[in-house]
Amino acid sequence: MLTIEKLNFSYGDLQVLWNINLEVKEGEIVTVVGANGAGKSTTLKNISRLVKPNAGTITFDGVDLTKLEPHQVVERGIVQVPEGRKIFPEMTVLENLRMGSYIASARKDRDANVNRVFELFPRLKEREKQLGGTMSGGEQQMLAIARGLMANPKLLLLDEPSLGLAPLLVKFIFEIITEINKQGVTILLVEQNVYQSLRIAHRAFVLETGRVVLSGSGESLLNNEHVKKAFLGM
Ligand code: ATP
Repeated sequence: MLTIEKLNFSYGDLQVLWNINLEVKEGEIVTVVGANGAGKSTTLKNISRLVKPNAGTITFDGVDLTKLEPHQVVERGIVQVPEGRKIFPEMTVLENLRMGSYIASARKDRDANVNRVFELFPRLKEREKQLGGTMSGGEQQMLAIARGLMANPKLLLLDEPSLGLAPLLVKFIFEIITEINKQGVTILLVEQNVYQSLRIAHRAFVLETGRVVLSGSGESLLNNEHVKKAFLGM
């Protein structure tokens, strides 16, 4: 579905991604794990075309994404839920959700998708008239994911969805990601919560200072000695 080959990227003179190769197959949950600053968010930004690679190719269903504008990437079915949530604080929950279905192909499904995300997140239904900015961190994260689903993604890019959440909410968010995947959405997740994200991943990649140093099934990486030492404190 998504193939990244030899992706190189720099912020000015600072090269942060080095020859990244990464593949996501339809139906999978793929996780990219790594420490702060390893280049996880930057990888997602290259896919959604928020930044432009120096070299390399990114293809999605056979189409070269590096030639597209960001909105065309969304229209192709790739939706990014950004780190730090970035919901619209002055809009209600329902208004935030409706903003998520701005692209033409999603507008016709707007009401059905509102019902669908309210089933996934009953808490949002209870708060549909509340202003986004007044919700708790966990609720804003739910809203950000729900808003992403409103665009009918084929591939959902999730940037650190568990960041800063209390343990119970972290558990809930990972369960929801699994459920969204079961409903047919392919997931590319970047996370610092290495244990939880490897547990739900079909496959995973470990990024260190802008390079892929390991890849394999989520389970095999959970049992990998380097991963245990570097990320799981074992
Ligand atoms: P984090 O979890 O902290 O976001 P990350 O793995 O997602 O970590 P990136 O945000 O992709 O890492 O950052 C990779 C490197 O690029 C870091 O060294 C970071 O300081 C640098 N960087 C990120 N954004 C910019 C920017 N806009 N301008 C310059 N350098 C940047």
